[in-house]
Amino acid sequence: MTQPILQVSELKVYYHTSQGVVKAVDGVSFSLQKGEKFGLVGESGSGKTTTAMALMRLLNPPAFVEGGHITLNGRNLLALSEEETRRARGAEISLIPQGAMNSLNPVMRVRGHFHDTIGAHRKVSRGEDMSTTIERLLRKVGLPPDVANRYPHELSGGMKQRVIIAMSIALEPSVIVADEPTSALDVVVQMQVMATLDQVQKDLGAAVILVGHDMGLMAQFCDRIGVMYAGTLVEVAPVSQLFEDPQHPYTQLLISSLPDFETKGRFRGIPGLPPSLRALPPGCTFHPRCPKVLDRCKTVVPAYREIAPARWVSCHLYDGGAG
Ligand code: SF4
Repeated sequence: MTQPILQVSELKVYYHTSQGVVKAVDGVSFSLQKGEKFGLVGESGSGKTTTAMALMRLLNPPAFVEGGHITLNGRNLLALSEEETRRARGAEISLIPQGAMNSLNPVMRVRGHFHDTIGAHRKVSRGEDMSTTIERLLRKVGLPPDVANRYPHELSGGMKQRVIIAMSIALEPSVIVADEPTSALDVVVQMQVMATLDQVQKDLGAAVILVGHDMGLMAQFCDRIGVMYAGTLVEVAPVSQLFEDPQHPYTQLLISSLPDFETKGRFRGIPGLPPSLRALPPGCTFHPRCPKVLDRCKTVVPAYREIAPARWVSCHLYDGGAG
């Protein structure tokens, strides 16, 4: 395997609160190959969006990086200065944010958004005609060039999302972080937007991290999936293996709770609720909900280990002797 384009090692993001430190992300490690599509899935509060924001260096207090490394194209992102980070953002790693449709300035034409994005990275002279660049980017995402002259309110939700995708690839980054990019769209538009993202990803050869909780979308789009629970990665596997043969009990429950025609009418969920990050259970944080819990799960944190090529799991069942 070649050198990964992005390497996240033991990333820890904590929050200072009046009730103490909250460990939103606690020791997350994964890597991404050039052009790979990696899904980060989990319930609300599992740490997936916080991980995405850490990758973008967009965490705001009280969140802070407690430890770890994020290496992109051989550089530790966490060691960059503010100015170096600003230059890397968009050009090396770009974000399609959650609720992206609402992130366009309502009083600025689409053209102006592209000027701002590109202008933040290189000098755009007053007289420079960027029309060709903007039209090319809009065409790449399946939008007609005249969209450049429209205001956001003149576009549908799907069109606005495509504008955001076009902006995210304007500087040809090597990694695109897409944080729930279709959450506010209906299923038909959702598929169109994902097909657009898939196409631009292929054209650019960029790696994509897709953050979300829609397992169906993950299955269709991603090459590999990482499952997060209570701030940690509990399983990482190639998409087909994760769905056909999930190893971690949480992943198994997550997949068995997906609806299908055979079990129509019977709702299956995961028993219990995710723990509060302020008061995590000792040992394995999933143990109060786990149907396979062992005695040591209640006191000993399971190691995150590679149990087979490209298959990582954090669970005592794979300690060698229990499972
Ligand atoms: Fe269940 Fe124990 Fe594995 Fe946690 S470590 S998922 S409690 S079996």
